[in-house]
Amino acid sequence: MKPFIPQLVYIEPQALEYPLGVELKKKFEEMNIEIKETTSHNQIRNLPGESDLEKYRVAKSTLVVGVRRTLKFDTSKPSAEYAIPLATGCMGHCHYCYLQTTLGSKPYIRTYVNLEDIFGQAQKYMEERKPEITRFEAACTSDIVGIDHLTHSLKKTIEFIGGTELGRLRFVTKFHHVDHLLDAKHNGKTRFRFSVNSRYVIKNFEPGTSNFDERLEAARKVAHAGYPLGFIVAPIYMHDEWQEGYFELFQRLSDSLQGVDLSDLTFELIQHRFTKPAKKVIQKHYPKTKLELDEEKRKYKWGRYGIGKYVYKDEDANDIEQTIRGYIAHFFPKAEIQYFT
Ligand code: SF4
Repeated sequence: MKPFIPQLVYIEPQALEYPLGVELKKKFEEMNIEIKETTSHNQIRNLPGESDLEKYRVAKSTLVVGVRRTLKFDTSKPSAEYAIPLATGCMGHCHYCYLQTTLGSKPYIRTYVNLEDIFGQAQKYMEERKPEITRFEAACTSDIVGIDHLTHSLKKTIEFIGGTELGRLRFVTKFHHVDHLLDAKHNGKTRFRFSVNSRYVIKNFEPGTSNFDERLEAARKVAHAGYPLGFIVAPIYMHDEWQEGYFELFQRLSDSLQGVDLSDLTFELIQHRFTKPAKKVIQKHYPKTKLELDEEKRKYKWGRYGIGKYVYKDEDANDIEQTIRGYIAHFFPKAEIQYFT
């Protein structure tokens, strides 16, 4: 998997008031990427493409360099107190991705250049919670590692949090382009997590992302660079022979982490879920998907903003939880399972 290169870049004029905005403009000019100006990302219309599907694909490889105006951070339970907004959107094409609905008609990738403002706000949240630790999640609205080789804004955030006493940073990725992050001064305050899944799920539902072996190689590198390491197994999906599929996942994980210090390893477990609006969008964007989205087979769970989600029925969810916990206990007896949801 090659590192992401946008096909088209939009730059908001205000972004050029910040050093990172100027740096990115220069970088993309040197890369001979088509650059357009836009007063605001909301003005981006008429992306190239005949059909909605083509436009969607172009949008997923379009990068908007902009300024983050809303500095109120969203909450990010259960993994952190706040979502730190560095970017939105992702070039990956995971069929089940929740961004399909949250980003609606604007699936392009946006990166924010006013990092000082964002860090200032993070500092305020840390002050408010003092002496408690404040955890920030950087991958709530994008796969930030996937674009960071271009922007280095994640690297700067890792170093910013590394310099605080009570801040912690975490993010998850399906990309392996981590080399520039290995020498970041993280001071052990950033937990670097990789998203992993059974072969079936990666093969059928995660196009446009790094493969399992690439992710594992990257995981070894970040562990050797002293980052606390974690894995998110998500979405856990009941495909045919899922027990064998997930057993093999943990076996391969364990084999490839031989020699890595696993004294501070965490797992987070998230079962597959979907909402009604998501189902519509998924079927539109990936009409041939094998993803099972049958409400009858699921349990309805009330959600935020009145949009409920369909999770596995209790019996299935318990089966998933016990099975996966059992595999982790077998292969990684010292690891901490932070939650199953
Ligand atoms: S890598 Fe993550 S953010 Fe990107 S499409 Fe896949 S699930 Fe969504």
